[in-house]
Amino acid sequence: MAPAMMQAMRYHGKPELRLEEVDVLPLKKGEVRVKVAFCGICGSDLHEVYHGPLTCCLPQAPHPLTGGAIPETLGHEFSGVIEEVGEGVAQDGRLNVGTRVCIEPVISCRSCPSCLVGDTPLCKTQFGLYGYSRPGGLAPYVNVKQTNVHVVPDNVPLDIAALAEPLSVAWHAVACSNFVAGESALVIGSGPIGALVTRVLKARGASAVYVSEPSSVRSAIATRCGADRVFNPLETDVVAAVRELTEGQGVHVAIDCAGTQRTFDAAIEGVRAKGRVVMVALWDKAKLPTVDMWALMAKERTITASCCFASRDMQEVLAALSSGQIRVDDLITDRIALSDVFDKGLEVLRKDPAQVKILVDLKAQAK
Ligand SMILES: [Zn+2]
Ligand SMILES: [Zn+2]
Repeated sequence: MAPAMMQAMRYHGKPELRLEEVDVLPLKKGEVRVKVAFCGICGSDLHEVYHGPLTCCLPQAPHPLTGGAIPETLGHEFSGVIEEVGEGVAQDGRLNVGTRVCIEPVISCRSCPSCLVGDTPLCKTQFGLYGYSRPGGLAPYVNVKQTNVHVVPDNVPLDIAALAEPLSVAWHAVACSNFVAGESALVIGSGPIGALVTRVLKARGASAVYVSEPSSVRSAIATRCGADRVFNPLETDVVAAVRELTEGQGVHVAIDCAGTQRTFDAAIEGVRAKGRVVMVALWDKAKLPTVDMWALMAKERTITASCCFASRDMQEVLAALSSGQIRVDDLITDRIALSDVFDKGLEVLRKDPAQVKILVDLKAQAK
């Protein structure tokens, strides 16, 4: 049984993160209690802590679906084991005490037209997330609705399962491009998401993946993820280089994980006639890019964007991890204790471009 109190890493608004004693909440109808095993730290956590609150809500304007507001327990990339099954959880044998799970963090109304076809992040209500809009995985226990729980296949370890969330973001971005095996791709930016996008494209049979990345450390990560060629955009005309490698045509799809006017232009110019561009990066609303409509029209190129991911993406990711179609174990670059989240997690991620995924191991002691 879970204790009455626990230590949780809670965000209080910029830039305060505190490990503090909180109640282990009673289970509501349809929820399971997950004993957290691993929780990843992500770029969005970094933005939230240093520049937020952005995704977290303020107490005077709590989240419309959850009523959540700061202080909030962070952590939206987590895996664990079911400790307790609440009343009203489906008795279909899927979720039991001891079941190994990972969490799909999107919270939506589940009744609007988008939600009903499984596009939960496109909900008519502003969607919420575990770890921002209700307590997340930077704590020993989290109560999670049964609809947000995925069973982890037996042969996938729980540390790998914690990466199913960011991998689903990359998987969804590739899905948004309508990519099919045998096509070529340009990935712009090889931070944690760009690296995973490269890995997903290779796992799904890309004929070639070219990456544009200025940092030499991150270029090496792109190569490790399977990139066929990596270009430094500060030294090379990436569009020209990509065209040369594709008989003057350009790639089938470009995925922009950097989000600057320059990278956006390169994505558009880098794809061939009828090529597709997907924007994954987040934009500062004060610095939105301009679009060269002529470049679109002349080649009937398409631009779309990818927003978080849907349940089906996580199901496909878990199946791909289980079958060995994709691996991510080499992208876990550090493991830390809960009390070290700020010093050894966020601060390190902010300064060290060699980091891809830092996992918090809930069983580890602070060093
Ligand atoms: Zn994340
Ligand atoms: Zn909805």
